[in-house]
Amino acid sequence: MKEQFTGSFTQQEPIPDSGIEAAIAVLRHGRLHRYNLADGETSEVAQLEQEFAAYTGAKYCLAVASGGYAMATALRALGVGPGDKVLSNAFTLAPVPGAIASLGATPVFVGVTPALTIDLDDLEQKASQADVLLLSHMRGHVCDMDRLMAICDGAGLRVVEDCAHTMGARLNSVVSGRHGVMAAYSCQTYKHMNAGEGGLLITDDADLAARAVMLSGSYMLYERHGAVPDPAAFEAIKYQTPNISGRMDNLRAAILRPQLAVLDHQVARWNERYGVLEAGLRATPGLQVIERPEAEHYVGSSIQFLLLDWSEGAVREVLKRCAERGVELKWFGAGAPTGFTSKYDHWRFVESKKMPVSDHILAGIVDMRVPLTFSLSDCALIARIIRDEVSTVFQSQA
Ligand SMILES: *Cc1c(COP(=O)(O)O)cnc(C)c1O
Repeated sequence: MKEQFTGSFTQQEPIPDSGIEAAIAVLRHGRLHRYNLADGETSEVAQLEQEFAAYTGAKYCLAVASGGYAMATALRALGVGPGDKVLSNAFTLAPVPGAIASLGATPVFVGVTPALTIDLDDLEQKASQADVLLLSHMRGHVCDMDRLMAICDGAGLRVVEDCAHTMGARLNSVVSGRHGVMAAYSCQTYKHMNAGEGGLLITDDADLAARAVMLSGSYMLYERHGAVPDPAAFEAIKYQTPNISGRMDNLRAAILRPQLAVLDHQVARWNERYGVLEAGLRATPGLQVIERPEAEHYVGSSIQFLLLDWSEGAVREVLKRCAERGVELKWFGAGAPTGFTSKYDHWRFVESKKMPVSDHILAGIVDMRVPLTFSLSDCALIARIIRDEVSTVFQSQA
């Protein structure tokens, strides 16, 4: 009998008891709207914002309805509008180009390297085409940020970081999201803190923070926030900034605050699992693990490997065989988007030029979720199954 994995790749851990209790308390008092306060009360949302600002070291933080909303709000605050071009990654998730398109702006895609990071040579060439880069740290892979910032500073490009997969990560000692002028995080179920949906936006820029708060639909109640600039910053922009409702509510914030308190612990648990998977996959014939720079203190909430130069048929055979043994792998090389997995040339609302070098890499990217409900022995078993099936198919090709 071949070994079989029977766990679920989409099952996250339950919400911590303290989060459930805090959520019930909110339900009992009924003040779910962030601006609905009892006398002297600080809302759950405002407390979450203060705590996330403290966690990241940012001056200002705004909690919103989703990660995609956070990205779009950052772009709006920066003044991106219809017809503008915004640079972004060819290898990312659909809400990233979607955030750009939501403003009537047009994404200009930048290629991907075999390290699964943005191609900085390509960025250098395209830098003059836009004023803003929406940089996605896709699947937690972080590029050489010193070089990226030098390119962007040189070209007058402002950087918004999409940290959906790097919440809790650091590059050297710098918290992910602290290189760019603004950074967006997601609190969707499959990310690092689970509120079902939700997003967080950070910045040190008082004007951008004030604009983002107004955009999120603060009415004129911004003084009920806990991590915002002085009222003067709002005075300057409050009548010019539309309300594009996308607030977070107290229920979600109540669920998130206890998760933020244990985020670093969760990161360590993810990385233990990642380590077991990576060690188990290393030296599999035909398979390349993604080497991670020492400076990158990543969050191993998913793992990728490359089947470079494999035929489509052979990759599909690996996916099928692994699926038959209970291991769900995703592939970025498919001709059409499947589930959460898509790439630049699937997003047909944008006219994009073919990127042969990136296409070659995308055609080899295999991706797997690592929920914390997996034990370390689950991870070892999954790695054995992948290794076994990749080797079998690879040898049959030779
Ligand atoms: C999930 C995700 C987002 C946005 O998150 P939502 O909260 O679902 O809108 C942005 N970027 C990447 C890379 C993501 O995976």
